[in-house]
Amino acid sequence: MFVPFLDLKAQLENIRGEITAALEGVLADCAFVSGPAVSAFEESFAEFCGVRYAVGLGSGTSALWASLLALDVGPGDEVITVPNTFIATAEAVSKTGARPVFVDVRPDTACMDPELLESVITEKTKAIIPVHLYGRPADMDPIMEIARAYRLHVIEDACQAHGALYKGKRAGSIADAGCFSFYPGKNLGAYGEAGAVVTNDEALYRKIRLFRDHGQPEKYRHEMIGWNDRMDGFQGAVLRTKLKYLPLWNEARRSHAEAYAGLLSDCPGIDLPVESPLCRHVYHIFAVRTEFRDDLLRDLQAKGVQCGIHYPVPIHLQKAYRFLNLPRGSYPVAESWADTTLSLPMYPELKEEQIRHTAEAIMDFPAERGKPMSAARGKASRV
Ligand SMILES: *Cc1c(COP(=O)(O)O)cnc(C)c1O
Repeated sequence: MFVPFLDLKAQLENIRGEITAALEGVLADCAFVSGPAVSAFEESFAEFCGVRYAVGLGSGTSALWASLLALDVGPGDEVITVPNTFIATAEAVSKTGARPVFVDVRPDTACMDPELLESVITEKTKAIIPVHLYGRPADMDPIMEIARAYRLHVIEDACQAHGALYKGKRAGSIADAGCFSFYPGKNLGAYGEAGAVVTNDEALYRKIRLFRDHGQPEKYRHEMIGWNDRMDGFQGAVLRTKLKYLPLWNEARRSHAEAYAGLLSDCPGIDLPVESPLCRHVYHIFAVRTEFRDDLLRDLQAKGVQCGIHYPVPIHLQKAYRFLNLPRGSYPVAESWADTTLSLPMYPELKEEQIRHTAEAIMDFPAERGKPMSAARGKASRV
């Protein structure tokens, strides 16, 4: 049996008729950049997130960058984020001329540890970007409380958390701005590049709208130096079509996570993701932890089970950020996640027998002196 990590074709086949009709609509209007399909998506996505405004952009990376610029983050400023995220979170900070400052994450959730936050705030700190990693919201209440006390902006990197809930609120709707990516493999994925910022702040909304379109409120009247960062019409049409399925798809992901957890709960070498009653995790990634990670990954690959690692090298140890001079050991919890995390196949269309096959392959893995994983002693070491 083959279990792909992701299966975009399976999803397309379920909705192909609707997608084709939506794309035909864009062709009929010849509205290839921005236009009615994008506006309609923005409206429905804002409503879905429970906020007043959404701005469609070219990517999630742009969403982060535009939000920072709109909050006047620039050279000389520091922005606090986590080292175990996709590089885009830090790149967006660097692109403004500001400096990313990292703070370690919690051992149980891999999200920003609010208890460490105050220790990295300086005179230069301007904003904080918690990342809702894997689809699990970061612990926003203490982060917002600290931000208010120090008068800092907060931008949620919700690029993996479409539809996730934190104490009943949608991921992305809690801070000054929420940034989303619609990269094809995300829980809500376009058929190309796309992203969005959601916010309740009208001034911020207007600034980002200007920014994405060369700073022009009307053609050839440029109020600020902006950029070309508009969403294209086809992506708006695809996203609007897919948005109504997102709750269903997230439910399917959650039920697959439950199935994995049921099958693997007695497997001693594997730490399963923790569920919290305060959050609704939407499992963009189903990440387990194991000290046998690299060998297990190879073994599963050989058995036809495609897995991934999110992320194998934390940002402070990437060559691109070597200039920050942050040696190994700087963020022990994030580093430990990088060394032990393993992402199992996860997408709404995943079949029960594929989950079973994956779980059985993990339990049969010869972890210790030829003994299968299910007989290995002790839990995977925690941080
Ligand atoms: C995908 C992702 C991004 C970047 O989004 P793009 O649309 O690929 O530019 C940023 N942050 C996180 C956490 C992501 O997963």
